[in-house]
Amino acid sequence: MQSLKIYNTLSREKEVFQPLHPPHVGLYVCGPTVYNYVHLGNVRTFLTFDTLVRYLRHSGYKVRYVRNITDVGHLTGDSDEGEDKIGRMARLEQIEPMEIVHRYTDDFHKVLEQFNILPPSIEPTATGHIVEQIEAVKTLLDKNLAYESNGSVYFDIERYNQQHKDYGKLSGRILEDLLTETRDLDGIGEKKSPLDFAIWKKAAPDHLMRWPSPWGSGFPGWHLECTCMSTKYLGKQFDIHGGGMDLKFPHHECEIAQGTGLNEVSPVKYWMHSNMLTVNGQKMSKSLGNSFLPNELFAGSHHLLEQAYSPMTVRFFMLQSQYRSTLDFSNEALKAAQKGYKRLINGLRLIRDMEFMADETIAVDVKQVEEVEKAIEGAYEGMNDDLNTAVAIAHLFALLKKINQLYMLQVKPAQLGEEVFNKLKTTYMTFLADILGLEEERNQAFEPLIDGLLDLYRDFKTQKQYDKVDQVRSVFKQNGLVIKDLKHKIDWAYEE
Ligand code: AMP
Ligand code: ZN
Repeated sequence: MQSLKIYNTLSREKEVFQPLHPPHVGLYVCGPTVYNYVHLGNVRTFLTFDTLVRYLRHSGYKVRYVRNITDVGHLTGDSDEGEDKIGRMARLEQIEPMEIVHRYTDDFHKVLEQFNILPPSIEPTATGHIVEQIEAVKTLLDKNLAYESNGSVYFDIERYNQQHKDYGKLSGRILEDLLTETRDLDGIGEKKSPLDFAIWKKAAPDHLMRWPSPWGSGFPGWHLECTCMSTKYLGKQFDIHGGGMDLKFPHHECEIAQGTGLNEVSPVKYWMHSNMLTVNGQKMSKSLGNSFLPNELFAGSHHLLEQAYSPMTVRFFMLQSQYRSTLDFSNEALKAAQKGYKRLINGLRLIRDMEFMADETIAVDVKQVEEVEKAIEGAYEGMNDDLNTAVAIAHLFALLKKINQLYMLQVKPAQLGEEVFNKLKTTYMTFLADILGLEEERNQAFEPLIDGLLDLYRDFKTQKQYDKVDQVRSVFKQNGLVIKDLKHKIDWAYEE
């Protein structure tokens, strides 16, 4: 089996994944700024890294997954201007900033759980690491890579680049060009250069979130928290750093500069960036007014939605495209995803209950075996090729076809042989549940009634009471299920 390749934003190539200290893998993902409800675009990014963690663990790695909560320092404006996003909400609602933080952190957790996104191993907060951030600012000042100006401290990009000559390496930006582009801008104010960024910011008199520091009362710059928390929990250099594509510059570029400046080593081996969820080709974002919340999706209550969609339908919809391509939201795509998800889950219900049956009279069929083995290999090849879940899913559908043939008695387990039959069963179940995180969305209220209703259905059929037969069918339909009237048995499935 081939090994996992991941696209490294830093080298702009797919590279064979070789962790620094196998079997351990250190993964850091930038978490949300908890000042409003998580929208579906945010979910896509966290789902990407959930799939990565699941696949790494499935491949035998021991992953320490750190995903932070930004609860201070993310300002509303660019260039270190504007209000703290959380502070602003607290001011508007006249409540404590930490009430804002709690409300939206709780929502974030709840939403991710609904989508079956696993919690990280550590979820540190920026406000919980003020001491580390102050220490980092001191070190950068000592190293002459930062300067104090009117109670704030700025990272000195030009001096950093003189020493390390790599500023812009992640985003492909060249410092000279950036300087030319920004030279004419006025309002540099306290900064030596408009590219310099705050690592500590003086708090204005009415600023809510503030801490004492050697430079007066203030708060840390947004980029610094991720450097300090990733170093603390994963070391000066670690394996994978992830986030949405929009964080590549300046956030991640600044993290590289800070980390390298502090520790004399480039902090991250593989940088991974997940692409955006778009609506009519435009990035989904709260500020553009084209975002919707998961709850609106589950209820179908947003004007862009033609119906309600379940969490697993949405999860499947997102997994159907590779994480580096943009994914455009549309009702058609979601309806197709609903069908696809239901088909896969129907297959899961079937294979879960199937056991190998030996039959001396049936020979192993090479063609059948090859079909199964090719599909299994293809599913792994897809995942190993930079987590191409789209390809993996296509091969799961090939396995599903075989499962359906087994169920319809068109193919006998003995034709596959015991080993291949069991491989088909475990691969299908493991891929769905463990790797793709797709769960069966059960109809809890209706399930206890199913067996009794199927008995009635059989009786009505025997008695040729066809109007009653139809009635039972329609009760199933109302509950999202169908009755399968097969030659060899009467069964039910989710309506596709
Ligand atoms: P924020 O709370 O805005 O910092 O965003 C949290 C995460 O969601 C970041 O990694 C962003 O890159 C990501 N994100 C924001 N909007 C989208 C979108 N439309 N599609 C995918 N990811 C997004
Ligand atoms: Zn970050």
